[in-house]
Amino acid sequence: MLQHHIVSAEPPTDRVESSSGANKMLDPFGRAITYLRVSVTDRCDFRCVYCMSEDMAFLPKRDLLTLEELDRICSAFVDRGVRKLRITGGEPLVRRDIMTLFGSLSRHLDSGGLDELTVTTNGSQLARHAKELAACGVKRINVSIDTLDAEKFRRITRWGDLTKVLQGLDAAQNAGLKVKINTVALKGVNEGEIEPLLEWAHGRGMDLTLIEVMPLGEIDGQRIDQFLPLSLVRARLAGRYTLEDLADRTGGPARYVRVKETGGRLGFITPMTHNFCESCNRVRLTCTGQLFMCLGQEDAADLRAPVRASESNELLERSIVDAIARKPKGHDFIIDRRHARPALSRHMSVTGG
Ligand code: SAM
Ligand code: SF4
Repeated sequence: MLQHHIVSAEPPTDRVESSSGANKMLDPFGRAITYLRVSVTDRCDFRCVYCMSEDMAFLPKRDLLTLEELDRICSAFVDRGVRKLRITGGEPLVRRDIMTLFGSLSRHLDSGGLDELTVTTNGSQLARHAKELAACGVKRINVSIDTLDAEKFRRITRWGDLTKVLQGLDAAQNAGLKVKINTVALKGVNEGEIEPLLEWAHGRGMDLTLIEVMPLGEIDGQRIDQFLPLSLVRARLAGRYTLEDLADRTGGPARYVRVKETGGRLGFITPMTHNFCESCNRVRLTCTGQLFMCLGQEDAADLRAPVRASESNELLERSIVDAIARKPKGHDFIIDRRHARPALSRHMSVTGG
């Protein structure tokens, strides 16, 4: 169920000159938009049970933005004050020639327009691409792993091969990339493995972030059967480890603690049990050029039409500014028996995680 927020009483979106001279974008609630997540494909070589159904229908290739169009849109955002780009999907590293996009976007790192270019991946293609990612200026990556048990890994991802992913991780670390592991906490599936995952990740110098299942898209089975509140996981961990709250906030839904015994960082992404919207600094672009101003709302602005309408960026920039003016205050996710349907019909793989 969705309730849309009323935003008309708020001051209009504005653009302000930042100290660097770039046009910064402020949304109607005064939040600076500095982070763009870009889903470059809705396709994936896995079919994780919480993310996709087994027989997904994917978009026709002609609907996708080309790599050049993706570059133009990302660059327009960088011109408007975006400092961080995350490339995601679907599985971003299965998109053909995706390294071309990393290569071209890296110019914004060189020029100082961008602080960070990063990627979220399932790791299956990392062994091939890790070195080149590092050469493009990527410093940190997120790799999603929900279990270290190969057979269970296959069950969760339906098609994934854990050995290949672990080889990818080795390649990434050897290339000097800092890795953060993302783990979706799944009731009755990996809830007994959180401690071993934590010890393993921190033992390899990697942060671990736990994620609550979000109600995005039709899957096979019911969300309520997968949902494991992280408040419970945290309480269990606190019985065994000393968790020291860290002030680090990324403007996103993650909260971090330092685990005293391992020295590593542990994050909790709790969209279902916490409201993190007040500090939201991000928007999300789909591979067809739809800009979602909030992961948890249906409203989107089409950037493909303006990017295709003319070679100059004027229309595109106007569309971006107008879209940011519609960024809602927050989301309204609900999972319970009465709301067994997904809160939103689109899958996480469309807007990217
Ligand atoms: N394929 C890449 C990967 O798995 O890392 C990038 C895209 S994936 C959609 C990004 C993140 O979203 C992953 O960490 C995944 O576990 C998470 N995710 C997918 N569906 C989710 C859902 N319904 N609720 C919470 N997290 C989800
Ligand atoms: Fe693919 Fe990532 Fe979704 Fe798993 S979570 S199906 S790897 S897009």
